[in-house]
Parts: sequence; C-alpha cells; structure tokens
Amino acid sequence: MARRRQIYEGKAKILYEGPEPGTLIQYFKDDATAFNAQKKGTINGKGVLNNRISEHVFTLLGNIGVPTHFIRRLNMREQLIRQVEIVPIEVVVRNVAAGSISKRLGIEEGQQLPRTIIEYYYKDDALGDPMVSDEHILCFGWAGQDELHEMADMAIRVNDFLSGMFAAINIRLVDFKLEFGRIWDNDFSRIILADEISPDGCRLWDMTTNEKLDKDRFRRDLGGEVEAYQEVARRLGLLPEGADSAVLDLETHRKKREK
Ligand code: UDP
Repeated sequence: MARRRQIYEGKAKILYEGPEPGTLIQYFKDDATAFNAQKKGTINGKGVLNNRISEHVFTLLGNIGVPTHFIRRLNMREQLIRQVEIVPIEVVVRNVAAGSISKRLGIEEGQQLPRTIIEYYYKDDALGDPMVSDEHILCFGWAGQDELHEMADMAIRVNDFLSGMFAAINIRLVDFKLEFGRIWDNDFSRIILADEISPDGCRLWDMTTNEKLDKDRFRRDLGGEVEAYQEVARRLGLLPEGADSAVLDLETHRKKREK
C-alpha cells in the first residue's frame, strides 16, 4: 500500500497529499534540469540544502508580513505547505543583467540594470515557458489585474528584503524567479508566495570574486554545484561552522543504515 498519495511530480520537487485538508507535503529531490529539461542531472544533497534554505527564506519573509505557503519543515527533504492554486506565471525579478536578458538584448552579463525589472513567463513546458506581457496575462485570464498588482508588489518587497539579506553575507542577488498561488476562502481568493526560493531559482554571485553560487554552475558545466549551494547555506548560518557537510553526511549515514 502506498504510504501517501502523490499529487504532482515536477522537475525538482514532488507534492504529496498533506495530513490535513488544504495542506501538502513538498519533497525536494536532487534532480536538476536546465534549458527546459533538455539537460538533466543530479546534484547530490541539493534537495536537503534547498529545503533548508527555502525554509529559512520563507520564514524570514513571513516575519516581515509577506504571505507564503510555508507552514513548517518536516524533515531533511520535506516541508508542510498550504495547498494553493498555482498562478501559471513565473515572475522573474532582475537587478543585474545575466542569462536570457543578456542573450536576447545583447547586454553584457554583470551590468547593473538602471532599475529593477520584472518579467513574466507563461508556465508551459511544451511552449518552453515563453515570456509574456501583462496584456497577455489579463487577456487570457491567467491572473486578474488586482492579482497582477499584488504579485508585482510582493516581488519588489521580496527583492528588497533578499537583496539586503544576501548583501549582508557578501552575495549579490542578480535575479530570481518567484511563483505565486491562490488561496480560496468561499468566493474570495488571495495571492500568496509559493514554490521555493533557493539557488535553483536565483542567480547569486559572490560580491568580491563574482563566483557563481547557484544553478548556473550546473547549466554551464562549471562543477562544484553542491559546494556552491553549501556555501550559500553556510553563509546564511544554516550549517555549523567547520562542519559544512554535516547535514549531508548525516543523510548518507541514514541511507546506509536503511539499506
Ligand atoms: N529561472 C527559474 N526557472 C525557470 C527560468 C528561470 O528559476 O524556468 C530563474 C533563473 O534561475 C534565474 C532567473 O530566473 O535566476 C532568470 O532566468 P533567465 O530568464 O535568465 O533564464 P535562464 O538563463 O535561466 O534560461
């Protein structure tokens, strides 16, 4: 008999039915994909680190009044979250040119943008998540005008908070992706922050060396993916000093015992 019902499997996470109605369990895998899943691989221990990093960030955002789906972390790879109706839009916030904006518009990577930019992408794997404007979002009813404003306002708040948080540990928040969901209360819905915030969906550069501490290490075959994710966790104070790999060692140990 299955231990619990799987609701959805994505590229980096699995969602299971939660213990109470309106809740889900979000399981973080080690799988990594890039370029619309054309490149696939595993980053050993990534799920453990992303679970912990995302818990930390969502907790801090909750503390400053940003509503999120996060309830609590359950174990090394799982967290309890509120079930939402996902808005099919990826909201990307950019402070520094990198990745697709550099390629599309010929702007040198690393150039500080004159102002923060918000972009929207329609979540559709078959179409390769095309960039869309607010006109498309409203026209096709992916989100309403009020929802769009709420998402943009929240994205800016998250950016301001995270830029400061990362700057304090000598990391530049170049860009990142957010996802939002709707929570229904009878006929009314509100928008809350969903998914995860981790080096999988952010560009994080060391402020002194410009070293990449994010998924670009995987996308661009730079190597040292786990070490980079661990470094982010370590600087955030999530790994004990001098015992950087303790979390991962523990899990390896547990797996061996279970065999
Ligand atoms: N991003 C993401 N998921 C996606 C596309 C982008 O998390 O499906 C993140 C990515 O990690 C980066 C930011 O959004 O931090 C901007 O990505 P970009 O548009 O430059 O695309 P990419 O270069 O990753 O293809």
